[in-house]
Amino acid sequence: MIRIDIITGFPTLVSGPLQESILKRARESGLAEIHVHDLRTFSVDKHRTIDDTPFGGGAGMILKPEPVFRCIEELMSNRSYDEVIYLSADGEPFVQKTANQLSLKQNLILLCGHYKGIDERIRETLVTREISIGDYVLTGGELPALVVVDAVVRLVPGVISDSESLLTDSFQEDMLDSPQYTRPAEFRGMKVPDVLLSGDHKAIDRWRAEQRAKRTRERRSDLLEQS
Ligand code: SAM
Repeated sequence: MIRIDIITGFPTLVSGPLQESILKRARESGLAEIHVHDLRTFSVDKHRTIDDTPFGGGAGMILKPEPVFRCIEELMSNRSYDEVIYLSADGEPFVQKTANQLSLKQNLILLCGHYKGIDERIRETLVTREISIGDYVLTGGELPALVVVDAVVRLVPGVISDSESLLTDSFQEDMLDSPQYTRPAEFRGMKVPDVLLSGDHKAIDRWRAEQRAKRTRERRSDLLEQS
């Protein structure tokens, strides 16, 4: 069972996807508890302000420290957290190994920035890890937080019943997945490889292993160099 607390100034940006598909099932079966906290409810003024202009001038608004400190300190007073993760374009690249590691944790906080970013003192004091989902800049940390939640929760034991399927997914063991087919065996003249219809499980395993190696060599040879 994993608990993830997402802190955001835009809670509706994250709530929808948590109510669909595998994330929905994981929550309903009690294997994942995911809470979304609206930063505005932790603001310290009657206008529920969460952002302000940058010291030194310049464009863009900055998320203020007070609401973030209040929210995280309140969460921490109830349980201890393995990581306080800030989703950040300049963080460590998010890869499958990171998802594997995080899926073994019990309590995680995901902090979503917005506008020009967050006050640096939050990063210095509260944040234990910073994660980027790629070398591009998004409007806010909400979509990155969902990417992390999805990649992590599907790995929590029991969430996907066929763990074999997870182990052969792309990037596990630094390999890409093999091609997949379903019925019909022939579609518009295109046939499924004979071996998959043979019922010979050893031959099928061998074919899949070869395909994984071929696909990885052709598309992501850098993965082979890593392993
Ligand atoms: N000024 C920041 C910079 O140049 O690195 C970008 C701020 S961005 C417009 C607003 C927020 O989106 C960030 O605080 C962060 O939480 C999130 N964000 C944007 N791109 C991201 C990425 N590639 N990975 C993770 N979070 C990202």
